[in-house]
Amino acid sequence: MPISTTNPATGETLQTFEALGAEEIEERLERARAAFEEYRTTGFAERAELLHRAADLLEKERDDIARTLTTEMGKPLTAARAEAAKCVKAMRWYAEHAGELLADEHPSPADVEDSGGSTAYVRYRPLGPVLAVMPWNFPLWQVIRFAAPALMAGNTGLLKHASNVPRTALYLEDLFRRAGYPRGCFQTLLIGSGAVEGVLRDDRVAAATLTGSEPAGRSVAAVAGDEIKKTVLELGGSDPYLVLPSADVAKAAEVAVTARTQNNGQSCIAAKRFIVHREVYEEFTRLFVDGMKALKVGDPMDESTQVGPLASERGRADLEELVEDARERGATVLCGGRRPAAHPAGWFYEPTVLADVTPGMRVHREETFGPVATLYRAADLDEAIEVANDTPFGLSSNVWTRDREEQDRCVRDLRAGGVYFNGMTASHPAMPFGGTKRSGYGRELSGHGIREFCNVTTVWHG
Ligand code: NDP
Repeated sequence: MPISTTNPATGETLQTFEALGAEEIEERLERARAAFEEYRTTGFAERAELLHRAADLLEKERDDIARTLTTEMGKPLTAARAEAAKCVKAMRWYAEHAGELLADEHPSPADVEDSGGSTAYVRYRPLGPVLAVMPWNFPLWQVIRFAAPALMAGNTGLLKHASNVPRTALYLEDLFRRAGYPRGCFQTLLIGSGAVEGVLRDDRVAAATLTGSEPAGRSVAAVAGDEIKKTVLELGGSDPYLVLPSADVAKAAEVAVTARTQNNGQSCIAAKRFIVHREVYEEFTRLFVDGMKALKVGDPMDESTQVGPLASERGRADLEELVEDARERGATVLCGGRRPAAHPAGWFYEPTVLADVTPGMRVHREETFGPVATLYRAADLDEAIEVANDTPFGLSSNVWTRDREEQDRCVRDLRAGGVYFNGMTASHPAMPFGGTKRSGYGRELSGHGIREFCNVTTVWHG
């Protein structure tokens, strides 16, 4: 895949970039190592000052970088601005909280003395340069979600961003440089995915984090495993969205539209499978389909657009194949199911709802990375949970119910990294984010996220 900026709303390639050669990669790896040796000795206050400065810059430049995001991957401009604002918030949160999240931990003195020691504590030390392989869907947020905690922990970062968002990737390197980070603390490597293995095997790289597809995750984790290097994987999802009889069905349907179509449907934590109790199925379906039909699809630069194009031609073709497979196997297309006639250029696809979905269809097991929802009718909570768990993924889940017992049941039985009640899944700096099963392992955000790339060191005094 060439490294280029191609506008998904028009299909026009605006700029192509030369991938780094072996010598340039070597230079950057050495810079990352050297920077780490210095940066690791800084304190939290100094790191926080740098991160606050980067946040201030990003806040000031929010509108400009939002336009870059929209140009490169097609998300509505309003969503791109919100993404930048969310990054600023997370940077400030980590700048303010890293010191307490990584404070030394002291076990009970009695336990230490019983074991023959005088004092002991746990110190969270940084690991070294961390390679971040990142996707295009939230091209700022996915990177900041890694970079803010990693830098606050004292690590340095090497970003291999998706090949279709090079301008955003270069902006990020420049942002940290202008904020005053020492040279080499955060670098962008303009490389294709074929060059990742070499970088990851290099002794100077301590660990890796990847957000993206299952094949990419498998490949990076296999190499890292071979090198005994820590990885965090945040992969795909096919999150269930359960609607039960005690729910506010109108609200559930309204939020369902946003939960499915946010980011033009290309979010790992988007709700994708809508599992509705039979008592409220007709009502929910009517409201949900009406909501999906009412969405404004169009030019993502237009302030009023709610759904823009898919990020790539390949992405749209993959989605079309899934819908065709479902249609051929008997699914009912309640709305959408085709390219919008009003937008012949670019990679648009109509918001789509599929009913009568059965386990033999690809959409039942595969992730739909675009504005396509699948609907299931469940006889009761048991069946709803069974359908919800019948997926290789386990990222997050959403449940609409006001019944406390049903809520407890869902927290106990839904196999996912999150259970969100009466609202849609969203990430928050203070809460861990990540999945189970094929959605990956490890956690981002919160104290759990910042500790992933730390050397948890036992300090013991005899
Ligand atoms: P990929 O997983 O291919 O891309 C994500 C990142 O991984 C990119 O930087 C990519 O680089 C890199 N990459 C890809 N293959 C390898 C590899 N073998 N070794 C090392 N790095 C690799 O995502 P796609 O853009 O192809 O999207 C395909 C599917 O991935 C989607 O349909 C969706 O299911 C899932 N996805 C999930 C995301 C999430 O947020 N969880 C985000 C994006 C995609 P390059 O761009 O150079 O190929």
